[in-house]
Amino acid sequence: MLGTASTNGYFTRLNPAWEQSLGWTREELMAAPFISFVHPDDVESTTESAIGLATPGSPPAISFENRYRTKDGAYRSIEWTTVAEADVLYFVATDVTERRAAQTADEEAEQLIHRSEALHRTLTANLPDTSVFLLDQDLRVLVAEGEAIRRLPWSDEDQFRGRKVTELFGEIPDDVVQLSIDSYRAVLAGERRAFEFLSAGMTMAVQAVPVRADDGTVESALVVVRDVTERTNAEQLIARRAQQQKAVAELGHFALQSHDLPGLMAEAASTATATLGVEGAVVFQLGEGGESVSMVAGAGLPEGSLGPRRFPLSDSAEVGYTISTGEPVIVEKMETEARFKPSLEVLELGVVSSLSVPIEGRSRPFGVLNVHTYEPRPFSEDEVDFLTAIATLVAVAVERDREEQATRHAALHDPLTGLPNRTLVLDRLGQALARRRREGVEVSVLMLDLDRFKNINDSLGHAAGDEVLLAVAPRLTDAVRPADTVARLGGDEFVVICPDVDGTRGATEIAKRLASAVNRPLMLNSGEHFFTVSTGITLATSDEDSPDSLLRDVDAAMYRAKERGRGRYELFDDAMRTGVMARVRTETELRRALDRGELTVWYQPVIDLETGRPVSAEALVRWEHPERGLIAPMEFIPVAEETGLIAELGLHVLEQACRQTAAWQRQLGRPLGVSVNVSGRQVSNPAFPTQVAEIVERSGLRPGTLALEITETVLMDDEADSPTTVLGALHEHGVTLALDDFGTGYSSLSRLKNFPLDVLKIDRSFVSGVETNADDRAIVKATIDMAHAVGLKVVGEGVETTEQGDYLRASGCDQAQGYLYARPQPAQAITEFLAAP
Ligand code: C2E
Ligand code: CA
Ligand code: CA
Repeated sequence: MLGTASTNGYFTRLNPAWEQSLGWTREELMAAPFISFVHPDDVESTTESAIGLATPGSPPAISFENRYRTKDGAYRSIEWTTVAEADVLYFVATDVTERRAAQTADEEAEQLIHRSEALHRTLTANLPDTSVFLLDQDLRVLVAEGEAIRRLPWSDEDQFRGRKVTELFGEIPDDVVQLSIDSYRAVLAGERRAFEFLSAGMTMAVQAVPVRADDGTVESALVVVRDVTERTNAEQLIARRAQQQKAVAELGHFALQSHDLPGLMAEAASTATATLGVEGAVVFQLGEGGESVSMVAGAGLPEGSLGPRRFPLSDSAEVGYTISTGEPVIVEKMETEARFKPSLEVLELGVVSSLSVPIEGRSRPFGVLNVHTYEPRPFSEDEVDFLTAIATLVAVAVERDREEQATRHAALHDPLTGLPNRTLVLDRLGQALARRRREGVEVSVLMLDLDRFKNINDSLGHAAGDEVLLAVAPRLTDAVRPADTVARLGGDEFVVICPDVDGTRGATEIAKRLASAVNRPLMLNSGEHFFTVSTGITLATSDEDSPDSLLRDVDAAMYRAKERGRGRYELFDDAMRTGVMARVRTETELRRALDRGELTVWYQPVIDLETGRPVSAEALVRWEHPERGLIAPMEFIPVAEETGLIAELGLHVLEQACRQTAAWQRQLGRPLGVSVNVSGRQVSNPAFPTQVAEIVERSGLRPGTLALEITETVLMDDEADSPTTVLGALHEHGVTLALDDFGTGYSSLSRLKNFPLDVLKIDRSFVSGVETNADDRAIVKATIDMAHAVGLKVVGEGVETTEQGDYLRASGCDQAQGYLYARPQPAQAITEFLAAP
């Protein structure tokens, strides 16, 4: 009986003999697992044998016996001889039930032959690469069949019979002959053997098992020889691939964990040499412009070949060719290469064969990964795939590195001009100061602010403003040395750090150079423009200087240049230092004062000139300094404005004033107004209107009773952003807007028409002059008339005498405030005055 089974334990093919012997149809036998027909007492031993057969590394040929169920419920003794090949089991099954009863030796021998013949026919019919021998105790061939046999000089099968197995070996090396003889002897002694040998470039696998007689003695050896050359090659390929995959995986792991790009490239090169077994590997990086390359990493290279040295791409034709094709390039023999002209260096190095693959970046190629040998060596497809995988990992890391660099650059640079930003300026200044301490160099900082830049923004729009900044930036950069840093702090404010200057003289020279660079006519889309620049200069003078203090000093100097008429430079000097120091002190104290609630609000009533009754009060901040006593606003408001503390201070005053006035309103039962001074910094904050509305809401102030006072400089400031939108929003929230100190600036009433104003306050200096100065009288009268003409109410400020008050009333002025009526006082002190009928 012959058959095949699959490793899942089912028969897959059976010859008709089965049906006669067991009574089952072949379909019935194939429908259930092989083991289900086995006698319960034999299941265990059968399973063991089957496991032995399936265990990797054990010889895949085995014999065993068991009792097998017939259709009528009886059992027959079956002897199985099984050979496993891949996932098919080939077997010869012999019904030995009768033999168990009585058997002659002749019959047995006959049967053995039959059995073996059947077996080898089965095997060779299905396995073209397999040969089968049956050897007797003298190692003589009883049966020989199969492909390998047919290659031997004996054409007829019969010629094998009776020959010594050693005669069949032919060209096989002596040691293999010896191994074979030893193995077969062992098999004939009852053992199982398996071995492989190489012969004429082929790998042969041998399995040998004893074939036993009924009494258990070994009567012959069954030898199965297979040509496994292909399998072995495949296995080697698989092993090589596995090794390559492992190498790629390890490198990928490295790439994920580390952000060290040079380290990764070095690792890539050494992985490539180790895995491919080549002499050298190089990572070529393409230069920015794509015209040059440099060797940035490598393995197995001569000393000193790596480095920043760039050479023209034309001198490295292999790299250029790989980049231009974008494909892997295999060179079998460098000397006879025809697609490109090999570089002299490569030839001198003695490179014979090479493989180059491109390292592709997302937007542009990064470079080439190359491996090479000094002996001729072919490169297979899977090796190309491997090197490409390595190159891809490098490419991914390069991309990531580029992105990280871009992010870092964005964090440290101004997006408009690409110049360093404040963060980088502070860093560079820190470095410069450290160098000053170490080497004693002189460090200078210049701050430049374009004069009347805001005019461009206001009249021509922000795009034109950006155009100016973009044009000015390179002029500044070109005017200084490469070691100097030109940065943009924001707006039209530039900073130049010179980490090594020739004292004050050197620094002023630089300031002059920068100024004349800016002064050159500028062609914009809108036409030709001329700019001047106000420059502050400072030099680090002590080890105490910090980046922050230098920026503060140079800012003070620049501010001085602006004050003194623009288009000039000013050196930070001792006087400024004293001023700055005082301001720094005030700032620190002011911060503390805010926290400790030392800032209180006093009030000065405003009188209706027609009725003589108080209609509102102006809130005026006071600082109750624990040591210095009461401090007037002029001493600290400018500092608060400069440092930005004004925002917090302003909201504090507003909150107190609204709450106090709401209390008065409830107490007096009339809509008393309150006027709060605000500075430019507050009005340029877009969040300000909402903050005001919230405070009014919270305080319970009657609607329409809050006025905010701004000065004309706030409206006319050509350096600040236009406050028009903020004022408009405030107006919409029901806030009255008053123009403070009118007459001290240069603005004309016609220009003020553009702003949503309700009240005009004539400055004290005009009011105090009306008794003595005819001009002042005329100005006051004209101002009142004109203000009324454009619908503004007028308040006279600083009225100290009855004459002044009378003149204002006679001129039609609506309201007035001044010492004549009441001085600014704390809230409780003034309640009585406000309550007067
Ligand atoms: P201002 O808005 O012009 O305020 C009027 C100033 O004139 C007050 O000075 C006031 O005391 C003073 N004054 C009032 N009547 C007379 C008078 O008859 N004769 C004289 N000689 N002076 C008179 P003060 O309180 O020192 O305030 C000075 C400036 O400080 C204010 O000028 C205002 O611009 C600013 N200021 C005061 N409080 C605040 C505030 O809370 N925020 C802001 N941003 N500025 C404030
Ligand atoms: Ca005021
Ligand atoms: Ca005023």
